[in-house]
Amino acid sequence: MIFVNTLDFLEKVDFSKKIEVFILRLDKIDSYISGNKWFKLKYNLQEARKLGLNKLLTFGGAYSNHIVAVAAAGKRWGFETIGVIRGEKPPILNERLLQVEKWGMELYFVSRQDYQQKKNPDFIQKLEQKFGNFYLIPEGGSNALAVQGTSEILDFLPQLSFSFDYILCCVGTGGTLAGLARSLYATNTKLVGIPVLKNASFLYQEIYKLLQDTPFQSFELLLDYHFGGYAKKTEKLSAFIQHFEEKFQVPTEFVYTGKMFFAFFDLLEKNFFLQNSKVLLVHTGGVFR
Ligand SMILES: *Cc1c(COP(=O)(O)O)cnc(C)c1O
Repeated sequence: MIFVNTLDFLEKVDFSKKIEVFILRLDKIDSYISGNKWFKLKYNLQEARKLGLNKLLTFGGAYSNHIVAVAAAGKRWGFETIGVIRGEKPPILNERLLQVEKWGMELYFVSRQDYQQKKNPDFIQKLEQKFGNFYLIPEGGSNALAVQGTSEILDFLPQLSFSFDYILCCVGTGGTLAGLARSLYATNTKLVGIPVLKNASFLYQEIYKLLQDTPFQSFELLLDYHFGGYAKKTEKLSAFIQHFEEKFQVPTEFVYTGKMFFAFFDLLEKNFFLQNSKVLLVHTGGVFR
């Protein structure tokens, strides 16, 4: 599918004298199938092919990176795509939705109430009556096959992967963290997730569910870096993102990775990391320019 030179993705950054810090730039994988979404889709697309299904249906909000990734993947690898979008159809579609429509995605807007039914078999059956047979990818793309994909993220660093003392990533549905936890099993790496939504302690259970019965490294979620909730921001966060990009030439955004990098600096200040430790920050993508 996509061929990459893995060495292009690891950047050492001079953030601190006390610890060594690296960024895994998954944002550089692809402009549209951004970062972690590529790993989450990989085995799902293979499975759809194996089942002979050439139509993908998935769910997301009007600004979802996952919707963009599925539409781009469909266009590139020859799948029809349907995006079930949360909320009434706006009079004017935003740029992202216009783009995915151009790639051929059929958009189906449902009320917030109906959207809540996204896991309900009756609702799925109704969608099947409407759209015919499809391969269903859940909201955010997180399922067992997605975790199989994200457990390969650290393969991008063949020699170094298990020598980090800490690995940080942001967490939406937890599929990415789950894969990292699986691949870090029985290492000494401390895995830390930064949820980007409020009241996110439920994510522990969600992530355990995604991991099913496979062995995995324990992890910690730091629940206080959501800045008010999913896709919410404060002036402090916006200022940080701008300053961070100017100083280190690493683009981020306020929904996901901006919150993770902010958390990293806050933790650094609070001496969360042991001296001389080696830290990997996973840049999961999501910057569209
Ligand atoms: C979707 C997304 C996430 C969240 O990943 P999960 O596997 O749902 O936790 C994180 N970062 C970016 C940039 C994303 O687009």
